[in-house]
Amino acid sequence: QSPWANFTQAPPDPIIGLTEAYQNDDFPQKVNVGVGAYRDDSGMPFVLPVVRQVEKEITAEELDHEYSGIAGCPSFVDLAMKFAYGEDCVPLLEGRIAGVQTLSGTGGLRVFGEVLNSFGHTEIHIPNPSWGNHVPIFRNAGLDVKTYSYYNKENSSLDFEGMIADIKNIPEGKCILLHVCAHNPTGMDPQIDQWKEISSVVKEKKLLPFFDCAYQGFASGDARIDAASLRLFVEDGHKVALVQSFSKNMGLYGQRVGALSVVADSQEEAQRVLSQLKVHIRPSYSNPPRHGARIVQKILSDEQKTDAFVEQCSSMAGRINSMRATLKQTLEDLGSSRDWSHITKQIGMFAYSGLTKEEVTVLREKHHIYCTLDGRISMAGVTSKNVKYIAEAIHDVSK
Ligand code: PLP
Repeated sequence: QSPWANFTQAPPDPIIGLTEAYQNDDFPQKVNVGVGAYRDDSGMPFVLPVVRQVEKEITAEELDHEYSGIAGCPSFVDLAMKFAYGEDCVPLLEGRIAGVQTLSGTGGLRVFGEVLNSFGHTEIHIPNPSWGNHVPIFRNAGLDVKTYSYYNKENSSLDFEGMIADIKNIPEGKCILLHVCAHNPTGMDPQIDQWKEISSVVKEKKLLPFFDCAYQGFASGDARIDAASLRLFVEDGHKVALVQSFSKNMGLYGQRVGALSVVADSQEEAQRVLSQLKVHIRPSYSNPPRHGARIVQKILSDEQKTDAFVEQCSSMAGRINSMRATLKQTLEDLGSSRDWSHITKQIGMFAYSGLTKEEVTVLREKHHIYCTLDGRISMAGVTSKNVKYIAEAIHDVSK
């Protein structure tokens, strides 16, 4: 009897499993709009030219491969924090933000989930819907995952009133997860005035705001202003925690480069928080990988390279937005009776199409188009070549 005989077959991951199904499909016009990874207009993975440039510089420097510290590369962490919080952020200038390099966004979410749990938090409140992986990440960190209203499926828009009402009902002191920008999967963000209201309710209830920033640069196309919600909360005096990912904006997906930071009351408190973050990292993966952090560090420490990055990031956002417009227009031209205006109102990587589970299944089985069962379409996989095919298929399943 094998020791693994009682290991049952686990279901495939709802997002990564889609790519596997797509790869096994030999239909020539098949389309993968499942995973949120940017593709150029030929449907190919895109490496930012500025990333290519600094990689050459890094190779020429013939650096060693010694271990990083538990908290990763300090200059990368400093630059990542400046990038998100802004150079003039008061807690940053006062040296009271504890920061560590993490295994991208996912790793930072998990580390902070564990830290919360070890300091008495038993639950976390995430938007409904949210990125699918939030639930297992926080559950595995020992937290009970609860949701607050976020989106109204009936009219494909933000359910702001429901959101505020639910946040008001969260017990005092609990942790609330907020998406900084380009909410995944809905692509709908609160307006700045609405963020102000959210901030004051969060303050009233003494909640702990935990920001997930996976798309800085993909929302407005300007990486420097997409952080407005986070910056507003910090200005309002919240002791926020933040997780940042450089997967999407710098196209560094497989390099696993991100940061976790926590705003504290004082430098001394930040040091204590930092020590606890390290306590959780050391027995988990010991220390983070170096290459991706070196790339980001080189880009963000040089004004010209940062400008090039902002421009290249904005061109990715621009291509996605033009595909949104074309997809919507093509659906209208085909005579669709549905209102598709949300496709161009949404921002970021995804179109939360409003297609039902049944429609998504037909889309997959009949048209070989792979998107998640909640109808989330990765706009990054839409190109000028396949947009008509996708629109026709959507029209066919939604007639
Ligand atoms: N948070 C959100 C909202 C995301 O959409 C993603 C990726 O899709 C992540 C975090 C984590 O991505 P990564 O671990 O590649 O940084």
